[in-house]
Amino acid sequence: MRILQHIEPSAPEPRRAICCLHSFTPGRVNLIGEHTDYNGGMVMPAAISLGIRAELIMMEEPEDEFSQAGEVRIASRARGETLCFGSEEIAEIASSVLLTGIELSTPVEVPGLEECQWGRYIVGCFILFEATLRLRGMDRTPWRRGTLEISLDSTLPQGAGLSSSAALCISILGQLNKVSGDPLDASTVARLAMYVEHRFVGTACGLMDQLAVLCSQANHFTCIDFVRFPINREFEVQYVLAHEALQQHQLLIFKTGVSHSLAESEYNERRASCERALVDLKGALGVEAHSLGELARCTPFRGLGEMETLRVLEGLLGENEGGVMRARRACHAMCENGRVVGAVQALSQGDARTLGGLMRASHRSLDSLYEVSCDELNYACKAVEEVAARVALGCGLNPEQAFIGSRMTGGGFGGSTIQLVHRSIGDKLVDCFCSPSNPYTAETGILPELFLCEVSPGFSIG
Ligand code: ADP
Ligand code: MG
Repeated sequence: MRILQHIEPSAPEPRRAICCLHSFTPGRVNLIGEHTDYNGGMVMPAAISLGIRAELIMMEEPEDEFSQAGEVRIASRARGETLCFGSEEIAEIASSVLLTGIELSTPVEVPGLEECQWGRYIVGCFILFEATLRLRGMDRTPWRRGTLEISLDSTLPQGAGLSSSAALCISILGQLNKVSGDPLDASTVARLAMYVEHRFVGTACGLMDQLAVLCSQANHFTCIDFVRFPINREFEVQYVLAHEALQQHQLLIFKTGVSHSLAESEYNERRASCERALVDLKGALGVEAHSLGELARCTPFRGLGEMETLRVLEGLLGENEGGVMRARRACHAMCENGRVVGAVQALSQGDARTLGGLMRASHRSLDSLYEVSCDELNYACKAVEEVAARVALGCGLNPEQAFIGSRMTGGGFGGSTIQLVHRSIGDKLVDCFCSPSNPYTAETGILPELFLCEVSPGFSIG
C-alpha cells in the first residue's frame, strides 16, 4: 500500500473506461437517541445536504505503462493524497480475515497504513467487501482484470460528529457493490461499513451512522429501533415526516471547532461499561435480556421516569464507585429510548415545545450521566439558544416555535450540536456567529462554523 501526495487520478482515455459511476453520500445528524444503537435502543438521525461525492472509473486494461492489472487508486481531495494498492494485496488480507471471520472485533493490520487512518477505512472496505463475496461463493471482484480509480470530493467536515467516516465507507462500499452488479443488500453494506470502523480503525460504534447515510429518505427523520439487533442483527426502521407546523424548520448544525483526542477511547469505555452493567443487572434481577434497551422495556424499569430508574439502578449496582458510575451510564442508555419515542410523537404532531424539551433533556443526560459532553458543547447549546431567542423576538416570532431545542449530536467530546430552527431566523443566526464578538467565541476563543441543512435522502449512485 502506498500513499502519494497531491496526485489526482489521470483523466482516462474515454474508450478505455468500461465503467464510470458517480455517487453522493450524505453525512448525518442525530436529532435524538444518542449512544443507544450499540445498547439495543432507539435513535432518530437524518441525512444532511453536506456529503461526499465519489467518481469511479474502471478500465479494462492498465491505463499506462506504469500501471498493472488489478491496481487501485483512490484520491481524496480533502486529504490531498492518493492511496495506491494492488488487488492481490487486498485478496491476501481478505483470505486471512476469512480464516477468523468477518464480524469479529479483533484489529486487522494493514502494512504501510499504520499512520494513515483514512487509508485504513478505504482498504478495510475493499477487504471486507471481497471477503463477503468470497464467503458467499460469488465471482472474484471485477477490477482484478483492469484498473480502478475513485476520486473523492467532500463538503462534509471531518471529525465534527457528522459521520464523515460512515459516509466515506458507504461511498466506497456502495461503489464496489454497484460495479460488481449489486450482490449485497443495503443492510449488509451498512454492517460491513460498521465492521470497518471496528476492525480497521478501532471505533466500537453501533450501526446508526451507516444506516442513516445509506437508507435515509428526503424530508424524513429515520427512527431505528435496535432492540432485536443483539439477538439476530435485525432492526426496525420507521420514516417520520414532521407535521406541517414544523415543515418551515431547517437543521442548524453548530460545529464547535473542538475534537478531543480522548473521544475514541472514551467511546469504547462507555460501551464496555454498558456491557458490564447489563451482565450485573441480569445477575441481580435474574432476568434474560440481550441489551440495556431490551431491559428498559422489562419489569421493574418499564414506565419509570429518569430519577426512579436511576434510583433502582443504583440500588442494584451501586455497591462501589464503579457500580455507581455504571448505574449512571445504564440510566442514560435506558431512558434515552423513551425520549426518542416522545420525539417521534412530538415531531408528527407538530409539538415544538415537547420536542425542544426532549432534546434538552437528552443533552443533560449525556452531559451528567453518560459524561460524553464537554464545556464547548455545553457553551454552544447555551449560546445558540440565547441568540436564537433574541433573533426570534426581533423577527416578531415566538422563540419557542422558532427555535426547537439544542443538543450535542454524535459521539461527543467536541464535534457539533444540532438545532431545529425556523427558516426565517436561520441565516440571521449563522451571521451572528460569524462575528468574533459572538458569545460562544467570547467564552471559548474559538470561531464556530454553522451550517443550515435540509433533511436529505441517503446514498445515491448512477
Ligand atoms: P466523523 O465521522 O464524525 O466525521 P471520525 O473521526 O469518525 O469523525 O472520522 C473522520 C475520519 O474519516 C477522518 O480523520 C478521515 O480518516 C476519514 N475521512 C472522512 N472524510 C474523508 C474524506 N473525504 N477523505 C478521506 N478521509 C476521510
Ligand atoms: Mg465517524
